[in-house]
Amino acid sequence: MRVKLAAGNWKMNGLTADLAEVDALIAMHPEPRSEVLICPPATLIAPMAARAAGGPVAVGAQACHPEAAGAHTGDLSAAMLADAGARYVIAGHSERRADHCECDEDIRAQARAVLQAGLRVIVCVGETETERDASNTLDIISGQLAGSVPDLVTGESLVIAYEPVWAIGTGRTPTTDQIGEVHDFIRARLVARFGDGVGRSVRLLYGGSVKPGNAAEIFAVSNVDGALVGGASLKASDFGAIIAALDAA
Ligand code: PEP
Repeated sequence: MRVKLAAGNWKMNGLTADLAEVDALIAMHPEPRSEVLICPPATLIAPMAARAAGGPVAVGAQACHPEAAGAHTGDLSAAMLADAGARYVIAGHSERRADHCECDEDIRAQARAVLQAGLRVIVCVGETETERDASNTLDIISGQLAGSVPDLVTGESLVIAYEPVWAIGTGRTPTTDQIGEVHDFIRARLVARFGDGVGRSVRLLYGGSVKPGNAAEIFAVSNVDGALVGGASLKASDFGAIIAALDAA
Protein backbone atom coordinates (compact mmCIF):
# COMPACT_ATOMS: atom_id res chain seq x y z
CA MET A 1 0.00 0.00 0.00
CA ARG A 2 1.46 3.36 -0.99
CA VAL A 3 0.91 6.15 1.55
CA LYS A 4 -0.72 9.04 -0.26
CA LEU A 5 1.17 12.32 -0.31
CA ALA A 6 -0.12 15.89 -0.49
CA ALA A 7 2.87 18.12 -1.21
CA GLY A 8 2.69 21.91 -1.34
CA ASN A 9 5.22 23.96 -3.29
CA TRP A 10 5.19 27.55 -2.05
CA LYS A 11 7.70 28.62 -4.74
CA MET A 12 8.99 32.18 -4.07
CA ASN A 13 6.10 33.01 -1.75
CA GLY A 14 5.95 33.33 2.00
CA LEU A 15 7.26 35.47 4.83
CA THR A 16 7.45 34.69 8.54
CA ALA A 17 3.84 35.80 9.04
CA ASP A 18 2.69 33.09 6.61
CA LEU A 19 3.81 30.36 8.99
CA ALA A 20 0.39 30.88 10.58
CA GLU A 21 -1.01 28.98 7.58
CA VAL A 22 0.79 25.88 8.83
CA ASP A 23 -0.82 26.25 12.27
CA ALA A 24 -4.21 26.55 10.59
CA LEU A 25 -3.54 23.49 8.43
CA ILE A 26 -2.57 21.41 11.45
CA ALA A 27 -5.70 22.59 13.26
CA MET A 28 -7.79 21.39 10.27
CA HIS A 29 -5.94 18.08 9.93
CA PRO A 30 -4.33 17.04 13.22
CA GLU A 31 -4.15 13.38 12.10
CA PRO A 32 -4.45 13.12 8.31
CA ARG A 33 -4.43 9.66 6.70
CA SER A 34 -2.19 11.07 3.97
CA GLU A 35 1.34 12.30 4.39
CA VAL A 36 1.44 16.11 4.20
CA LEU A 37 4.47 18.09 3.05
CA ILE A 38 5.12 21.78 2.50
CA CYS A 39 8.15 23.02 0.57
CA PRO A 40 8.47 26.71 1.50
CA PRO A 41 11.21 29.06 0.27
CA ALA A 42 14.55 28.15 1.85
CA THR A 43 14.32 31.07 4.29
CA LEU A 44 11.31 29.43 5.97
CA ILE A 45 12.51 25.83 6.15
CA ALA A 46 14.06 26.04 9.63
CA PRO A 47 11.30 28.10 11.29
CA MET A 48 8.57 26.01 9.65
CA ALA A 49 10.28 22.76 10.69
CA ALA A 50 10.57 24.03 14.27
CA ARG A 51 6.94 25.10 14.33
CA ALA A 52 5.67 21.85 12.80
CA ALA A 53 7.95 19.52 14.80
CA GLY A 54 6.20 16.40 16.06
CA GLY A 55 3.07 17.18 14.02
CA PRO A 56 1.57 15.88 10.78
CA VAL A 57 3.26 18.37 8.40
CA ALA A 58 6.73 17.59 7.07
CA VAL A 59 8.89 20.30 5.53
CA GLY A 60 10.84 20.12 2.29
CA ALA A 61 12.98 22.20 -0.05
CA GLN A 62 12.41 23.24 -3.66
CA ALA A 63 15.89 22.56 -5.09
CA CYS A 64 19.49 21.98 -4.06
CA HIS A 65 23.03 22.07 -5.39
CA PRO A 66 24.41 18.66 -6.40
CA GLU A 67 27.64 19.07 -4.43
CA ALA A 68 27.95 18.70 -0.67
CA ALA A 69 29.88 21.94 -0.07
CA GLY A 70 32.15 24.39 -1.84
CA ALA A 71 32.49 27.66 -3.70
CA HIS A 72 28.93 28.01 -5.02
CA THR A 73 27.68 31.44 -4.00
CA GLY A 74 24.00 31.53 -3.23
CA ASP A 75 23.47 27.77 -3.42
CA LEU A 76 22.42 25.30 -0.74
CA SER A 77 23.48 21.67 -0.42
CA ALA A 78 21.20 18.80 0.48
CA ALA A 79 23.06 18.41 3.79
CA MET A 80 22.32 22.06 4.64
CA LEU A 81 18.64 21.57 3.83
CA ALA A 82 18.55 18.45 5.99
CA ASP A 83 20.26 20.37 8.77
CA ALA A 84 17.57 23.05 8.53
CA GLY A 85 14.85 20.43 8.94
CA ALA A 86 13.92 19.45 5.38
CA ARG A 87 12.85 15.85 4.80
CA TYR A 88 12.22 16.07 1.05
CA VAL A 89 13.71 18.03 -1.84
CA ILE A 90 11.98 18.74 -5.16
CA ALA A 91 14.29 18.22 -8.15
CA GLY A 92 13.64 19.26 -11.73
CA HIS A 93 10.57 21.44 -11.31
CA SER A 94 9.80 22.87 -14.76
CA GLU A 95 10.40 26.39 -13.45
CA ARG A 96 13.94 25.32 -12.45
CA ARG A 97 14.43 23.58 -15.80
CA ALA A 98 13.37 26.82 -17.57
CA ASP A 99 14.65 29.62 -15.28
CA HIS A 100 17.94 27.96 -14.29
CA CYS A 101 18.55 25.89 -17.43
CA GLU A 102 18.61 22.68 -15.37
CA CYS A 103 18.84 19.66 -17.65
CA ASP A 104 18.16 15.98 -16.92
CA GLU A 105 21.80 15.40 -16.02
CA ASP A 106 21.76 18.25 -13.45
CA ILE A 107 18.55 16.95 -11.96
CA ARG A 108 19.90 13.42 -11.69
CA ALA A 109 22.96 14.80 -9.85
CA GLN A 110 20.74 16.80 -7.50
CA ALA A 111 18.54 13.76 -6.86
CA ARG A 112 21.62 11.67 -6.09
CA ALA A 113 22.82 14.32 -3.62
CA VAL A 114 19.42 14.42 -1.94
CA LEU A 115 19.41 10.66 -1.46
CA GLN A 116 23.00 10.67 -0.21
CA ALA A 117 21.98 13.22 2.43
CA GLY A 118 19.33 10.77 3.62
CA LEU A 119 16.40 12.80 2.28
CA ARG A 120 13.61 11.85 -0.10
CA VAL A 121 13.47 13.35 -3.58
CA ILE A 122 10.48 14.40 -5.68
CA VAL A 123 11.61 14.33 -9.31
CA CYS A 124 9.36 16.36 -11.63
CA VAL A 125 8.66 15.44 -15.23
CA GLY A 126 6.22 16.91 -17.75
CA GLU A 127 5.71 17.96 -21.33
CA THR A 128 5.19 21.42 -22.79
CA GLU A 129 2.04 22.23 -24.72
CA THR A 130 3.94 22.05 -28.01
CA GLU A 131 5.23 18.60 -27.12
CA ARG A 132 1.71 17.40 -26.26
CA ASP A 133 0.26 18.87 -29.44
CA ALA A 134 2.93 17.00 -31.41
CA SER A 135 1.90 13.74 -29.64
CA ASN A 136 5.34 13.53 -28.03
CA THR A 137 4.19 13.42 -24.40
CA LEU A 138 5.18 9.83 -23.59
CA ASP A 139 8.55 10.13 -25.36
CA ILE A 140 9.34 13.27 -23.35
CA ILE A 141 8.31 11.65 -20.08
CA SER A 142 10.32 8.54 -20.90
CA GLY A 143 13.44 10.60 -21.65
CA GLN A 144 13.08 12.70 -18.51
CA LEU A 145 12.62 9.62 -16.33
CA ALA A 146 15.65 7.90 -17.85
CA GLY A 147 17.78 11.04 -17.60
CA SER A 148 16.68 12.55 -14.27
CA VAL A 149 16.12 9.58 -11.98
CA PRO A 150 19.28 8.09 -10.46
CA ASP A 151 19.86 4.34 -10.26
CA LEU A 152 20.10 3.90 -6.51
CA VAL A 153 16.56 4.58 -5.31
CA THR A 154 14.12 2.84 -3.02
CA GLY A 155 10.34 2.82 -3.15
CA GLU A 156 10.26 5.20 -0.19
CA SER A 157 13.04 7.60 -1.17
CA LEU A 158 11.79 8.41 -4.67
CA VAL A 159 8.59 10.25 -5.59
CA ILE A 160 7.76 11.24 -9.17
CA ALA A 161 5.58 14.26 -9.92
CA TYR A 162 3.95 14.40 -13.35
CA GLU A 163 3.46 18.10 -14.05
CA PRO A 164 2.44 19.08 -17.57
CA VAL A 165 4.16 22.45 -18.02
CA TRP A 166 1.08 23.94 -19.67
CA ALA A 167 -1.06 23.12 -16.62
CA ILE A 168 1.17 24.77 -14.00
CA GLY A 169 -0.36 27.97 -12.67
CA THR A 170 -2.70 28.26 -15.65
CA GLY A 171 -5.95 26.90 -14.26
CA ARG A 172 -5.93 24.32 -17.08
CA THR A 173 -5.70 20.62 -16.33
CA PRO A 174 -5.43 17.54 -18.53
CA THR A 175 -8.44 15.25 -18.70
CA THR A 176 -8.50 12.42 -16.22
CA ASP A 177 -7.85 10.03 -19.14
CA GLN A 178 -4.73 11.99 -20.07
CA ILE A 179 -3.49 11.96 -16.48
CA GLY A 180 -4.19 8.23 -16.17
CA GLU A 181 -2.37 7.46 -19.42
CA VAL A 182 0.79 9.23 -18.25
CA HIS A 183 0.69 7.86 -14.69
CA ASP A 184 0.19 4.28 -15.93
CA PHE A 185 3.07 4.83 -18.34
CA ILE A 186 5.35 6.15 -15.57
CA ARG A 187 4.47 3.17 -13.38
CA ALA A 188 5.32 0.77 -16.21
CA ARG A 189 8.66 2.51 -16.84
CA LEU A 190 9.57 2.34 -13.16
CA VAL A 191 8.67 -1.35 -12.94
CA ALA A 192 10.70 -2.06 -16.11
CA ARG A 193 13.74 -0.26 -14.69
CA PHE A 194 13.62 -1.05 -10.96
CA GLY A 195 11.51 -4.21 -10.80
CA ASP A 196 8.15 -4.80 -9.17
CA GLY A 197 9.12 -4.11 -5.55
CA VAL A 198 10.58 -0.65 -6.02
CA GLY A 199 8.63 0.23 -9.17
CA ARG A 200 5.26 -0.35 -7.53
CA SER A 201 6.20 1.40 -4.26
CA VAL A 202 7.28 4.76 -5.72
CA ARG A 203 4.54 7.34 -5.28
CA LEU A 204 3.33 9.22 -8.34
CA LEU A 205 1.95 12.71 -7.81
CA TYR A 206 -0.02 14.77 -10.29
CA GLY A 207 0.75 18.51 -10.36
CA GLY A 208 -0.74 21.38 -12.36
CA SER A 209 -3.65 23.57 -11.21
CA VAL A 210 -4.91 21.14 -8.56
CA LYS A 211 -7.64 22.94 -6.61
CA PRO A 212 -10.27 21.96 -4.05
CA GLY A 213 -12.80 21.76 -6.89
CA ASN A 214 -10.93 19.24 -9.07
CA ALA A 215 -8.90 17.29 -6.49
CA ALA A 216 -11.37 14.44 -5.90
CA GLU A 217 -11.67 13.52 -9.59
CA ILE A 218 -7.89 13.64 -10.05
CA PHE A 219 -7.29 11.47 -6.96
CA ALA A 220 -9.67 8.84 -8.37
CA VAL A 221 -7.37 8.28 -11.36
CA SER A 222 -5.31 5.09 -11.45
CA ASN A 223 -1.73 5.43 -10.19
CA VAL A 224 -2.31 8.92 -8.79
CA ASP A 225 -0.95 8.73 -5.24
CA GLY A 226 -1.33 12.39 -4.39
CA ALA A 227 -0.53 15.84 -5.70
CA LEU A 228 2.16 18.46 -5.93
CA VAL A 229 0.24 21.69 -5.41
CA GLY A 230 1.49 25.20 -6.11
CA GLY A 231 -0.89 28.14 -5.76
CA ALA A 232 -3.56 26.26 -3.81
CA SER A 233 -1.04 25.21 -1.14
CA LEU A 234 -0.50 28.77 0.05
CA LYS A 235 -3.76 29.00 1.96
CA ALA A 236 -4.63 26.44 4.62
CA SER A 237 -8.29 26.52 3.61
CA ASP A 238 -7.52 25.41 0.03
CA PHE A 239 -4.70 23.00 0.83
CA GLY A 240 -6.75 21.58 3.70
CA ALA A 241 -9.62 20.86 1.32
CA ILE A 242 -7.22 19.10 -1.07
CA ILE A 243 -5.87 17.00 1.82
CA ALA A 244 -9.46 16.10 2.77
CA ALA A 245 -10.09 14.93 -0.80
CA LEU A 246 -6.91 12.83 -0.75
CA ASP A 247 -7.78 11.30 2.63
CA ALA A 248 -11.17 10.33 1.23
CA ALA A 249 -9.81 8.86 -2.03
C1 PEP B 1 3.67 23.51 -9.14
O1 PEP B 1 4.29 24.56 -9.08
O2 PEP B 1 4.28 22.45 -8.93
C2 PEP B 1 2.26 23.55 -9.45
C3 PEP B 1 1.65 22.44 -9.71
O3 PEP B 1 1.66 24.79 -9.45
P1 PEP B 1 0.07 25.09 -9.53
O4 PEP B 1 -0.61 24.11 -8.60
O5 PEP B 1 -0.07 26.49 -9.08
O6 PEP B 1 -0.35 24.85 -10.94
